[in-house]
Amino acid sequence: MRLSRYFLPVLKETPSEAQIVSHRYMLRAGMIKQASAGIYSWLPLGFKVLRKIENIVHEEQARAGHIAIQMPTMQSADLWRESGRYDAYGQEMLRMKDRHDRDMLFTPTAEELVTDIFRSHVGSYKDLPLTLYQIQWKFRDEIRPRFGVMRGREFYMKDGYNFDLTKEDALHAYNRHLVSYLRTYERMGLQAIPMRADSGPIGGDNTHEFLVLADTGESEVFYDAQITDLTFGSREIDYDSHAECQAVLEEFTSRYARTDETHDEALFNEVPEERRRTARGIEVGQIFYFGTKYSEAMGATVADSDGNRVPVHMGSHGIGVSRLVGAIIEASHDDKGIIWPEGVTPFHCGIVNLKQGDEEADGACEALYASLTALGLEPLYDDRNERAGAKFAGMDLIGLPWRITVGPRGLKNGVVELTSRRTGTSEELPPEQAIERIA
Ligand code: ATP
Ligand code: MG
Ligand code: MG
Ligand code: MG
Repeated sequence: MRLSRYFLPVLKETPSEAQIVSHRYMLRAGMIKQASAGIYSWLPLGFKVLRKIENIVHEEQARAGHIAIQMPTMQSADLWRESGRYDAYGQEMLRMKDRHDRDMLFTPTAEELVTDIFRSHVGSYKDLPLTLYQIQWKFRDEIRPRFGVMRGREFYMKDGYNFDLTKEDALHAYNRHLVSYLRTYERMGLQAIPMRADSGPIGGDNTHEFLVLADTGESEVFYDAQITDLTFGSREIDYDSHAECQAVLEEFTSRYARTDETHDEALFNEVPEERRRTARGIEVGQIFYFGTKYSEAMGATVADSDGNRVPVHMGSHGIGVSRLVGAIIEASHDDKGIIWPEGVTPFHCGIVNLKQGDEEADGACEALYASLTALGLEPLYDDRNERAGAKFAGMDLIGLPWRITVGPRGLKNGVVELTSRRTGTSEELPPEQAIERIA
């Protein structure tokens, strides 16, 4: 992409309404535009990051054997009356009537919809296990939308639902989700710690939230410092193996890690004092096992091997896709701007032309642009007629992992400058070597 042809409405001033760094940088870098309280338009740069995150979620769900569907954002209240949640859900649910005076709602979560799909089409234990998921816009009329996309009213969420014959199989699905979520967050450059959580209105006993440690997080968390040493890394896992998935669950829940909702002071005090940590965290996902709560209420049964109809065991699993954009920035920035982890960066590198209009500099930039593109990388070429300082500040703000600076002086010696956004270190290299370093 050439910046002269892009739409990147960068703000010079720091917006006064933004209280936390991710919100400030997302507005300043022209990633989002507020439409109304807690509702945002995603501008090109923000939209690209959102798509990158979404793609990682899809890839990791596919790897775990989960199947993508798409359900509507608008629902009839009828299914929610069947489950008993229409009255129970409260004011976060946006309710409305259609022209025939029928009660409708904007999806805050989709257990009822997916259970209805299941009961209409699945009748035998032979069709299990089954996990269906979607990535779709949700609406919750949050009492205090704030922090930009972190607590929106409209937000983009991955929600998955497993259907299993037995509790044991459903707990395997739970563990499989835990593994796939660990992989998902690590690919985004994040450490998200599974913490024992409270099940709230969805019900059930087994639930973990995934928290990214950050001072601006809305949850208070308590943990054993040893938990932050654990990483999933590049290990291969057989998602069908109950034992392998169970071992990962045990490993990642072997240290004390809880949110304020389930915090137990006495248990926490058993952690050696020098390892006890109290901090803030951002909830970026949650997994639940809730058994037959919805399948019984809604008649989602299958025939078991003896021909008896039994309600299926279910769980639901969510990732805050749009919240993650903010959470990644909270976890990775400096005072100049965002520092994108490689996995989610909107462009792989920036090219800064120090002397736009200079035949040699322009030619070298075009050649770099073509070579990087041919390698399947996406460069953002700042080809505007701007001062070098403004170009550098813009690149620092939008946080691409690499910047290649091209000017007539370096070109005389056959070199360009390659700068790492994260470390700030620069090296002079021939253009081919700079490309090799990035690829
Ligand atoms: P929170 O405790 O932050 O209100 P939640 O527990 O109500 O979140 P879940 O029902 O667990 O949310 O939904 C799954 C994920 O969706 C959450 O882990 C979070 O990352 C994301 N999410 C929930 N509410 C919002 C929101 N208002 N804005 C952005 N993302 C959200
Ligand atoms: Mg909530
Ligand atoms: Mg929560
Ligand atoms: Mg939650």
